[in-house]
Amino acid sequence: MSDSDILIKGDLIKSRWRITQKIGGGGFGQIYQAYDKLRRELVAVKVESNSQPRQGIRMEVTVLRRIQNREHVCELFSGGISTLYNYMVMTLLGSSLSELRKNLKEQCFTLSTTLRISLQILQAIESIHSIGFLHRDIKPSNFAIGRKNVRQIFILDFGLARKYTDYDQHVRPARIEAGFRGTIRYASVNAHNNRELGRHDDLWSFFYMLIEFLIGSLPWSKIKDKESVGHIKETYDYTRFLTNLPDEFNKFLEHINELNYDDKPDYDFLRSLFNSSIQRLGFHDDDIYDWEKS
Ligand code: ADP
Repeated sequence: MSDSDILIKGDLIKSRWRITQKIGGGGFGQIYQAYDKLRRELVAVKVESNSQPRQGIRMEVTVLRRIQNREHVCELFSGGISTLYNYMVMTLLGSSLSELRKNLKEQCFTLSTTLRISLQILQAIESIHSIGFLHRDIKPSNFAIGRKNVRQIFILDFGLARKYTDYDQHVRPARIEAGFRGTIRYASVNAHNNRELGRHDDLWSFFYMLIEFLIGSLPWSKIKDKESVGHIKETYDYTRFLTNLPDEFNKFLEHINELNYDDKPDYDFLRSLFNSSIQRLGFHDDDIYDWEKS
């Protein structure tokens, strides 16, 4: 383990969770696997130094607490602060959708897998929106399959979440300018332009994910410069992606294109698009997912 690791193998949190190994050093936090002495199972522990400038775990714990017991959300066992770090203990998940896609020979998911995981991803996004929060970092590495149920998708990483409603459940007034949040490859044009993000921006990131799942890359995948990527996204003819895809993807694009900051997306309509594609093409719920093939 490196010098900057906050925890080491053998460390004990609250006399209950024993660190067994590091599994990720994300953007802001570090992720470890730990053994839960009480439940006698492995869990995931996310920690961040409480002296680092950007603190995300407090927000993550707030959001995860409010969104517990939803189908595509992992369980939060504990969250708190100690003298040196902030921590949260949650369900240990399996591989992310980013890893699963890259492990495939063709680097693409099939239409059947993409459409069926889309229903799960949409449900996860709708869940967070329904409690008044935006995710603001929707991307394939923030969705993972379960370890026990590899057919279930879970949403991760609420460190960039933001409340978009006020105490009255009304949409908060948009700030004239907001700092860039998210990940360049999946950020919406609004994010590139430092605009206040709304529910539709999470869906734009979801749309970019879908294209990457099906085609294997995005036209700006290799470009690192935020302004250049923003410019391509702003001028790109998105229908070019769609020529070989079911017409429902075009309808998805049309819907998100019509939405403004205040608008509530029509999640039922988007769900119906995925369902009608699935039905028409003869796919079934119990078909295997691409990562289940040997
Ligand atoms: P950051 O906010 O630092 O980006 P994330 O929460 O996105 O951190 O986690 C980074 C990576 O760690 C994820 O892409 C995933 O691979 C892994 N990870 C995060 N949470 C879990 C979990 N509950 N179970 C298993 N792996 C996880």
